[in-house]
Parts: sequence; C-alpha cells; structure tokens
Amino acid sequence: MIITKYIPMDRIRSMKIYINQDKLPLSAIVEREGPDLAITGNFYGPDWKPVCPLKADRQVVECDPDYAYPALCWDEGPDVGVAIVPKGGMSPQRNYIANCAGIYHGQDQPMIFGADVGGRRGRAGWGFRDGTLALVAFPDGADGMTPLELRAWAKAQGWTDFILGDGGRKVNYYDREARILIEGRDPSQNLILIWLKKEEETPMEGITQRLMTKNPCYTRGRTITPKGIMVHSTATPGVMSRALAQSWDTPTAKAAVHAIVDDTVTLQTLPWTARGGHAGSQAGTANGTHLSFEICEPQECRLLPEEWDPLKRGDTGWAVERLQKELAARGYDPKGIDGSFGPGCDAALRACQKDLGLEVDGSCGPATLAALAGRWGSYLAYNPAEVQDYFDAAWGRAVALTAYLCQTYGLDPMTAVLDHSEGHALGIASNHADVGHWFPLHGKSMDDFRAAVKAAMAGEDVSELDTAVDKLAGAGLIDSPDYWKGGDYSADNVKALLIKWAASI
Ligand SMILES: [Zn+2]
Repeated sequence: MIITKYIPMDRIRSMKIYINQDKLPLSAIVEREGPDLAITGNFYGPDWKPVCPLKADRQVVECDPDYAYPALCWDEGPDVGVAIVPKGGMSPQRNYIANCAGIYHGQDQPMIFGADVGGRRGRAGWGFRDGTLALVAFPDGADGMTPLELRAWAKAQGWTDFILGDGGRKVNYYDREARILIEGRDPSQNLILIWLKKEEETPMEGITQRLMTKNPCYTRGRTITPKGIMVHSTATPGVMSRALAQSWDTPTAKAAVHAIVDDTVTLQTLPWTARGGHAGSQAGTANGTHLSFEICEPQECRLLPEEWDPLKRGDTGWAVERLQKELAARGYDPKGIDGSFGPGCDAALRACQKDLGLEVDGSCGPATLAALAGRWGSYLAYNPAEVQDYFDAAWGRAVALTAYLCQTYGLDPMTAVLDHSEGHALGIASNHADVGHWFPLHGKSMDDFRAAVKAAMAGEDVSELDTAVDKLAGAGLIDSPDYWKGGDYSADNVKALLIKWAASI
C-alpha cells in the first residue's frame, strides 16, 4: 500500500530533523520525541553520515561544495518550502534537507543516484502538492518502484515538488492520527519529525490565552490525560504573569506550566492537555499526569527565608532598599535609601552585625536576615497585612481557575488538587516548598484551597463574613479563622478581639 499524507501549512506547529546518533528504531524515536509524523530523511554512507546537504537546527551536518540542491527548508515548520541550497550549504534557514530531487517547482530534475539505489524497492519521498506539504512512503514489496517510477507517480498525483528520500530496508514512517507505523528493518540516519497543531479548548471567561509557543513543552506537542492539578507559586518574587510567560517562552526554557495567575490576570500558557514541565526532571513525576499553574509571588515574598537571596555590596533593588530602611530604623546610617548597596550601606551593616553578635561579613545572609526581621515592624519581615489585597485577588483567580479545570476534566477538587510540596511528599514532584511556605502566612492551607474550589464549583459565593475574617487573620488579629467563620461567638472572645483591634491602631 502506498501511504500519502498532505498537510496544510496552517496545521503545522513545528518540524525538526532528528539525527539518529543512537541508531534507534522508529518506535523508540516516536516514544522519545512524541511527533505526530515521522518520515525517513536522506541517504547516508557507511560512516553513518548523510551524503546530501543537511542542516538541523542551525547546524550544517552535510553540505556539497560543488553542487546546489533543491531541498525542504524551514525555520519553525509552518514556513516550510522547497528552495535551492547553494554550493557550500549557506542558507539563512535553520533547517534544510536535500536528496535526489525529482521535481523542482514543476520542472523535472536530473535524478542522480548510484546504481545501488536504482532498483524497484520501498521508498520515502517529500514535496508539495497544491500548497500542502506532501509525504509518501511504502516498504519493500509489491509496491516497490524505481526512483523514476516514483517521480512519475508523484507527477500523476499533482505534486509540483518531489524529493526522493532514503528507501529499501530503511523506510521508516509514522502517522499518529492514521495509526500507521512502518518500521524499517534498518534505522534511518536522519528523519523529518512533524508536530501538528492541536485543537484548543475555548478558554473560560476571565482567562487570557498567551500560549508559550516557543517553549519545548509546546513545540514537542506531547499530551497528557489530566488526572489532577498541581498548584505552584513562583520562586521569583515580583515577577508577574506576563513577564514570567515571556521569560519561559523560549526553546531553552527548563520549565512550563499551563497557566500563570497574579492579582490582575489569569494567563493560559499551554494547551490544557499539553505535557507540562513543573514537577522536576525525574521520571514518573506529575508532569505526565497533572495540569499545573503558578501563582506569582509579590515582591514582598523575597523576605521569606525560602526566597531570600543574600545581599552584599554591589547589589541593587527593592530588597536592598528594605535593608537600608531597616538599618536606618535601627540607628545605623546607610548613607542614603536608594536601593543601591554601596560602601555606606556596607559600613552600616557591619556595625549592626557587630552589635548583634553576628558574623561581621557585610553580607545580609539568612542569619542576618533572621536577626534583622526580629524587630517588631521590621522592614525585613514579611508583613501579611501589606500583601493581603494582592493575596486575596490572586487567591480568587487561582480558585476560579482550578474550579474551571476540575469541571472541565471531571476532577474531584478534594482529592485531585495538590501543591508542589504535597506532590514531593507523594514522590511525584521535585523538592520544593511551594505553596506551603507562603499560604499559611495568610491564614490559608491547601485544605482551605480545596474547600474553596469545591464551594466555587457548587456555585457558592464566599460570604462577606469569610472575607472579613480572612482580612483580620491576614493582619494577625485572628488566629482561628474557622471559629469566627462559624458565626457563633462568646462575649469574652469578642471582647478580646476588640481589645486586640484597638491595640493595633
Ligand atoms: Zn513549584
């Protein structure tokens, strides 16, 4: 059977040339790379190197100093076309693959091939028909054709460009949609891998789509069946949704989540069924099972011990400014509160360290931070009241998003939703503390989060009383929110609360 595939350009998400250094069979390459289509590349020699021009992701693997070749050329994939690769292989495009060309832009080409290639056998070929990328493949057997017979066949099918690929025992072809796998008896030295665009779900109201199309989790196109949702908070305080999505939208990004939430926007950053990269690099993690999102931590989270970066001379920014304020409040003059750690700040810090009995090293590391944060009202202590509005807004967005995803994928929020640290405890995520290092400072646990998601799914609104109690808990006035949310108080407790409240003003 002669297998053909015609792929419209707008269905192509990405393409790459896979150099099969490990001489893997096709099924292993499909397993490793997860493409939608794979097809044998060009001829190779006994030295396991291609014999015709080949450039893979900016790297010229093979070129010809004497001849120009028609070749499949592309940068990302949707831009693929057939163009001439000049002598020497110089091409502005990131990928090309040439071989024995049969038709170039409607013109027959002198098909040049060795005697060993000429017989009737299985074949692979690539080209264009009606503006679609065209593939053909068939193994050795009754359908065997010579190169010229296959060109005649392609012409009859209306192909306007046709390049013969490798053939015989080395015909390897895979089509996920059509469930076709032709595995050659020999591996191919190189293959063309193609990923197609997936149908995107309609996003829920309040979600802005900003897919990270350059991130490997997007371009690889691997998918999951969501079995749960993993909640994260960023380890980069002060970086909000759009900036984080921007920084992860590169081919070299090491991580990816499905959504990012801050106080003003919920971004969808991957297709919901894409395999994310949020739970570490080991095998068997929640990457293969869980949807994921990040809650952006505000600037103030830099003051949490888990997020603290030691400050020393030459550093600049928000945290330095807080250090300068704290030194000044303690009577050490940092010579300006400007967010720039200069000699004045260094001298003030050393004097302060000496008086506090700390190591005098001019560096505000964990021990110095802990000591400086100990003062009531310290500028270096995380103050939940300062951040409560942000927290409430981000929490609300995170709950709404999780409720939507639970509804869409039939997940029970009480059992399927967990945070990164809970995932680590279960052995399905790397060792990170989020969100357990942050939520409790606002009187919230993951159990509260799950309950809020469940309530949101049931259409229950969070009551005014709950919101007020949360606000007071965040300000440190209430330490048992459930009691106050119950609404049945003793007079003594109300009295105690009023006194606490008055004292805080
Ligand atoms: Zn995390």
